[in-house]
Amino acid sequence: DAPTDAGYSTGQALPPLEGAQDGGVVTRFPPEPSGYPHIGHAKAAIINEWYVDRYGGKKILRMDDTNPEGERLEYYAAIKVGLEWLGIRYDVIKNTSDDMGLLYAKGAEMIRTNHAYVCTCKRDEISRNRQRKAPCRCSRAEPGKNHDMWERMFEKYKPGEAVARYRGDMGSENTVMRDPIIFRIIDARHPLTLDRYRVWPGYDFAVAIEDSSDGVTHAFRTKEYELRDQLYCSILDDLGMRKPVLLEFARLEFEGMPVSKRILRPLIEEQKVAWYDDPRLPTLEAMRRRGIRPEAIRRFILSLGFTKSNTLAPFGALEAFNRKAVDATSIRLHMARRPTELAVGGMPASPVRLANHPSADLGSRMLATDDTVLISGDDAESLAPGDCIRLMGLGNVRITSEGRLTGEYSGDEMKGYPIVQWVPRRVAHKINLIITNRLFVDGKFNEDSLVVEEVAVEPHYLELADDTEIQFVRFGYCRKESGYRAIMTHR
Ligand code: ATP
Ligand code: MG
Ligand code: MG
Repeated sequence: DAPTDAGYSTGQALPPLEGAQDGGVVTRFPPEPSGYPHIGHAKAAIINEWYVDRYGGKKILRMDDTNPEGERLEYYAAIKVGLEWLGIRYDVIKNTSDDMGLLYAKGAEMIRTNHAYVCTCKRDEISRNRQRKAPCRCSRAEPGKNHDMWERMFEKYKPGEAVARYRGDMGSENTVMRDPIIFRIIDARHPLTLDRYRVWPGYDFAVAIEDSSDGVTHAFRTKEYELRDQLYCSILDDLGMRKPVLLEFARLEFEGMPVSKRILRPLIEEQKVAWYDDPRLPTLEAMRRRGIRPEAIRRFILSLGFTKSNTLAPFGALEAFNRKAVDATSIRLHMARRPTELAVGGMPASPVRLANHPSADLGSRMLATDDTVLISGDDAESLAPGDCIRLMGLGNVRITSEGRLTGEYSGDEMKGYPIVQWVPRRVAHKINLIITNRLFVDGKFNEDSLVVEEVAVEPHYLELADDTEIQFVRFGYCRKESGYRAIMTHR
């Protein structure tokens, strides 16, 4: 049980790290600032953090920002906010784009030592040759000529006219090794370096150089990068640079809640979901909003362990951890969905005191009584004259008529009647309750994935601070939002 920064134990251990030295484990989390952080990023960040906490060492957050076309300042900030919310603190926070000088120097060295060349073939020609395992003419140019062309990439060539390619093996069974592109010209404005650079390293090159020069000892990636390991190692060997240990784990995604930008962005553009904090999404912002606690995410992720098979986890597995986290601090309140009036004769006049929690010490509140109470539509519809119910914390009521529902208060003696939560009509407040369902069902967008219902709550609700966690009894756990709203966390 490794205690984390937040002071609780994770309850789970990951397998030992190959070659780890106490105090000397350096990991990095390298998100690209091209989207909002999500549950998959949380997995990578938490695993990286866990090992540094376990062995001692250093955590690096490195914004992997060498593709100015998709990157935005807003995303750098969103990633930092998300990680802070998760409670992960870094020893070093940096950007790959801070190191362009180093990356260019290593690129030039590759050209000089003939480990790379400049290729002026068209994009589709390059991919055709790579499919056919056939080297192109450019790969046979003299290193001296390559060096001139490399220099020209910084000024004369236009985007697409020249790329630098790693001299791998065009005959390799591993397609990644067939002379991959390591630098290309992109004429887009970079969020941080603006127009300063136009030649940008590709992912494989940048990550290898950065990991090695940042002193990373153990570099984690998701499984689909496995084929790229050979290229990563080969680049560092050619440059005589130290190689970190590469380790792979499975991508994490929830059933019916895709993390991919390719799927999420159109939903936002078509206004099917409002924004990246929409509670149906697997983004960290959405999780925070709906009332998922960071420690529940951490426990959930560590409970999955270090599997390599891709995990399509049910959201319910995370909910189970969250329920444990929030139960003892969620105050219980009465809420009626589809509020329906029940007029009660002989109702006691004095307010009742209700405990805020059945077992935890969360105090109590007073609730006024009223001749008419609101109960949920479902409860109301199940009642017929002669039935008896117990209004929670108040007493029994015998139903005398349906249609316009009426009843008689019948005291407190008999036990065993169905218990119903109620809200006194006179002091009831209407709020909007946001209820979420899976975003995708059978691969299709679920039009009923978000439901907003007007419900009745007892007045105490309005006295709670925004963000307070509550449980509406016989409904589920919710989080108070500003503006007369509540959001369902889970049942
Ligand atoms: P995408 O661009 O599709 O969101 P990515 O892997 O390119 O995915 P990055 O921002 O580059 O996203 O990822 C940063 C780190 O987080 C990487 O180490 C990556 O392996 C890891 N990561 C991203 N998505 C997941 C996921 N679903 N499960 C586990 N780790 C993930
Ligand atoms: Mg990426
Ligand atoms: Mg991403």
